[in-house]
Amino acid sequence: MRAPDDSARYATIHKDRGSFMVPPNLADYEAARATFTWEAARKGLSGLPRGRGLNIAHEAVDRHACSARANRVALRWLGKNGEHRDYSYRELALATNRFANALRSLGVNSGDNIFVLLGRVPELYVAILGALKMKCVASPLFSAFGPEPVVTRMDIGDARVLVTTEALYRRKVEGVRDRLPGLEHVILIDAAEAEGAHSWHGLTQAASDVFEIAPTDPQEPALLHFTSGTTGRPKGVIHVHEAVVTHYATGLYALDLHDDDRFWCTADPGWVTGTSYGVIAPLTHGVTNIVVEAEFDAPTWYGLLAQERVTVWYTAPTAIRMMMKLGVDVVKNYDLAALRFAASVGEPLNAEAVVWGVEAFGLPFHDNWWQTETGGIMIANFASMDIKPGSMGRPLPGVEAAIVKRGVDHEFEIIKASGEEGELALRSGWPSMMRGYLHEEARYQKCFVDGWYLTGDLARCDADGYYWFVGRADDVIKSSGHLIGPFEVESALMEHPAVSEAAVIGKPDPIAGEIVKAFVALKLGFVADEAMRKALLGHARKRLGAAVAPKDIEFRSNLPKTRSGKIMRRLLKARELGLPEGDLSTLESDER
Ligand code: ATP
Ligand code: MG
Repeated sequence: MRAPDDSARYATIHKDRGSFMVPPNLADYEAARATFTWEAARKGLSGLPRGRGLNIAHEAVDRHACSARANRVALRWLGKNGEHRDYSYRELALATNRFANALRSLGVNSGDNIFVLLGRVPELYVAILGALKMKCVASPLFSAFGPEPVVTRMDIGDARVLVTTEALYRRKVEGVRDRLPGLEHVILIDAAEAEGAHSWHGLTQAASDVFEIAPTDPQEPALLHFTSGTTGRPKGVIHVHEAVVTHYATGLYALDLHDDDRFWCTADPGWVTGTSYGVIAPLTHGVTNIVVEAEFDAPTWYGLLAQERVTVWYTAPTAIRMMMKLGVDVVKNYDLAALRFAASVGEPLNAEAVVWGVEAFGLPFHDNWWQTETGGIMIANFASMDIKPGSMGRPLPGVEAAIVKRGVDHEFEIIKASGEEGELALRSGWPSMMRGYLHEEARYQKCFVDGWYLTGDLARCDADGYYWFVGRADDVIKSSGHLIGPFEVESALMEHPAVSEAAVIGKPDPIAGEIVKAFVALKLGFVADEAMRKALLGHARKRLGAAVAPKDIEFRSNLPKTRSGKIMRRLLKARELGLPEGDLSTLESDER
């Protein structure tokens, strides 16, 4: 397979040690890798008092509430109508104590599954953390899901309690509640006690604000997250309390959190990023976590970054590409001097976008890679490390990565730093590794070979140990004997000034096996006509060579994406080939 040559096309962004606003936590990558142990990382956490184990909510809230940080703002909530509410660590501790006691008053037990179907409102954060205090398993669902995805997930997840609003309940749950016989309690955050539902207000007001977390084995289940459904039916992924060690360590190293940071993760807690990094990691560091209820809008986001003096910002490629569409000039209207570090996850981040960060914000976007299954960041561009635009970076200290090839009998060969492409694998043993796919034991077992977790993503590792994403194993295109990673082709198309988004699929062809077809959305002000099609085909051919460049380009005003912002190539392909569309429960934009 051809190796992408982004490294040659985009100069490495060198980190000048003298220019850091604050010294990065990970000063020297090699040195940190050599000495890191998970046992030592755990020492950054407190553990439950009197050696009674490890509980995420204690690390995120209670340990700060009884420290000098008690009155620091833990959550700064910015509502979609311009209102705001601040919760100090102490207030968050009391609110989560009340909710934990409320659950107890309902007869809820540790191990029960609590689903939360809410927009990004404070009760969402209180419910997740309060449930963790009760040692329940918290499962936040994305509030824009329709009734079917909601009921399917609650059914798979054996939901006993649901926390939601009256409107969401009426629209999404009431009509299907008979399909959820195990759902015993519905708690409405904005309604009075009524038949079949409890009032959040009533329950929490009646509850004590004193709560002692019971001894918690770090291996007890804590979170249930569903994958994004990009490649098929979403899987229910189980994480345990020990995952907080990864959340903490990655907050320290990959997001470079410092004590007085004001951190904003733009992901919704309905996706794993929004929980691991929109709730847990920043709170374990005792920083101020900014929560924005409104959906994406570039100027609004710039305004919030400026107004809140955000120092560390964690966002996603889709949002970055939308910002790029609007251009650099808009950004210049805002004072973003406080912003120190910007990171991205969820999809491959095109080299173009990394470099655009420098132009727009004076900072590159630091790409990092992980999955719902890994529970936390595994490969990252660290603050102190030079960036090769287009690369996902290097494995977290404590994480051993490799590129492997699987044989027919599941035997495999490690080809780590040869530059050859293969499947990205991680040596099992980091704390936030999933402990199972709910009710899918065989599927879970199939992810592991000889102590390695196989990710299903293809990548390569260069001689400097940087990892480069190639594509999902399912998306790779086989054309005239070449294996083509869609990311490489999409990135080349993105370099054309007219292109705002691109997705590439393999289309069956009697001669070549498959040919590359691209779906392209243009930036504002460009016309999708024959001349543009020819220009893009020519650009791609020049950049990639005839064997790899798309043979066909189709314009769309929008590409189908999951609600977490990932392009659904499988859907473009199914439609192109007239095949069944498969699970569409996470589909967001659907313009054909
Ligand atoms: P499903 O497993 O249901 O198909 P999904 O894999 O999209 O959905 P997630 O766990 O949310 O669900 O996403 C993880 C995947 O997202 C990774 O396996 C990878 O394919 C992609 N991804 C995440 N971050 C990056 C990145 N920085 N670069 C490239 N790809 C990334
Ligand atoms: Mg996946």
